[in-house]
Amino acid sequence: MSFEEILSDQEMSRYTRQILLPSMDIEGQEKLKQSKVAVIGAGGLGCAAAQYLGAAGIGELTIIDFDEVELSNLQRQVLHQQHNIGDNKALSAKASIEANNSEIKVTAITHKLNANELIDLCNSHDIIVDCCDNLATRVELNQRCYDTKTPLVSGAAIRMEGIISCFDYADDTPCYNCLSQLFGEQQLSCMEAGVLSPVVGIVGAIQATETIKLLANIGTTLVGRVMLCDIAHMSFREMKLAKSDSCKVCHLAAGETR
Ligand SMILES: [Zn+2]
Repeated sequence: MSFEEILSDQEMSRYTRQILLPSMDIEGQEKLKQSKVAVIGAGGLGCAAAQYLGAAGIGELTIIDFDEVELSNLQRQVLHQQHNIGDNKALSAKASIEANNSEIKVTAITHKLNANELIDLCNSHDIIVDCCDNLATRVELNQRCYDTKTPLVSGAAIRMEGIISCFDYADDTPCYNCLSQLFGEQQLSCMEAGVLSPVVGIVGAIQATETIKLLANIGTTLVGRVMLCDIAHMSFREMKLAKSDSCKVCHLAAGETR
């Protein structure tokens, strides 16, 4: 099948600015159309990430959130409108993405996934984008992605700070647990600490960018690196992230086999 048959004239036109990029081209756009991405959480990070992933032409997007839209979410969760207050966030996000792009398929999951459902989700998607708001879910997602070798694009934002990394679960690359070990057990939510509106947009947009790069094999991703954003001083730093010898998820003792 030729590329022209995969992307319709409408799609060629819709994505023309992206197709013009030599590193994307028609081939990259076609890969995006044939990809399935799951976004965990339709809060601040998830709204930004999913909005760009949908507009950029990811063929199938799954949005998972069991919360309802509240007035205090609208300051930063840009896929939800005032009339969505009280609605499920995954459904509200789906409606907003579909209003922008009817060429793609968007599925909303409105309940908390159990372990088996998470494994099925990993196995049926090319990339998982972690936009959740709590450590327990991040830890579980990392484990399921590790078990199924499904790439994970992780992001977090609080106050005026952000942190982003990607995990591909290759034998020699670190996992989210290797990273979280460095930051200890401290867990703050933006409910307690606050967050400036565009900060979640910056982090979510970087997550969408990394997802697209991984899918279309563009440039160098954040696998094995962590991006730290200090938005108050608009300073972006990167740190190399190595596999931890004491990681209980991805480190294998000598002689152990997978
Ligand atoms: Zn690890």
